[in-house]
Amino acid sequence: MTTTVRFAPSPTGRIHIGNARTAILNWLFARKSDGRFILRFDDTDTERSTKEFADGIAADLDWLGLTPDQVYRQSERFALYDAAAEKLKQEGRLYACYETAEELDYKRKRQLARHQPPIYDRTGLNLNDDDRAKLVADGRKPHWRFKLDQRDIHWHDLVRGDVHIDTASLSDPVLIREDGSYLYTLPSVVDDIDMGMTHIIRGEDHTTNAAVQVEIFEALGAAAPVFAHHSLLVGADGKGLSKRLGSLSIAAMREDGLEAMAVVSHGALIGTSEAIEPHTSMDTLLEAFDLSKLSRAPGRFDMTELENLNARIVHQ
Ligand code: GLU
Repeated sequence: MTTTVRFAPSPTGRIHIGNARTAILNWLFARKSDGRFILRFDDTDTERSTKEFADGIAADLDWLGLTPDQVYRQSERFALYDAAAEKLKQEGRLYACYETAEELDYKRKRQLARHQPPIYDRTGLNLNDDDRAKLVADGRKPHWRFKLDQRDIHWHDLVRGDVHIDTASLSDPVLIREDGSYLYTLPSVVDDIDMGMTHIIRGEDHTTNAAVQVEIFEALGAAAPVFAHHSLLVGADGKGLSKRLGSLSIAAMREDGLEAMAVVSHGALIGTSEAIEPHTSMDTLLEAFDLSKLSRAPGRFDMTELENLNARIVHQ
């Protein structure tokens, strides 16, 4: 099977060094195994996603030298997601819920006050046809939750090692909102199956999602790919990088005259056991690259270090 990986940004802003690092790791992983690197725009949120941001991200990747082998847009693939949702409904894995946001908030607060974990109580699952008809007659529209198996989900993560997550500790996730729009969870799995992903390399903020997604992969008759959840970058202040952090955006780095290979070298080697050396070509960087060298501790991004690295490349 051809190694196939993807970088899957939501085009709701430009990418910063932390997002680019995910793209760099995926690109290097694909090249190292003669595989394919796919750019997939996770743009099912049609309110917040824009074509300008998508074009900007594609231009950023191009500048970095991370050309994709193929580009997809989720907004063009709704028929596939609808078919998967229908299958899950037929099999009783996707069920209608009618609570309003206020009602859910009230339930959560009551559980917390009783020192109970704020897990969704599955009211929707226990409704009968009459209950549902009454709710609809009252003008309520359903949102749809995935019925978790409530079991131990386990995988060997290429960065985090053995991971166990008990899905009984999670709320059944909402896959489709009241207005019919999809959250990221289901389209991502449908596409990962359809596009033949062999590995999912992404930030560790998605580790819990992975447990849910393993169940969805299996419910759709597929095996989950191999996962690698890398730690996130933090700024010099120890805080996470936000998508809106201007100077850390790839666009700003380019405008500030940094060399693309300085950014790529830094993004590839930060948070690894390798020294951060300036590489002037992807070939030498590929030799140094190995996912297993990634540390589980957050990588600390410091602009001064990147500027020093850049100076070393310019003066080589
Ligand atoms: N669109 C998701 C994000 O930007 C993708 C996560 C994933 O790689 O599965 O966080």
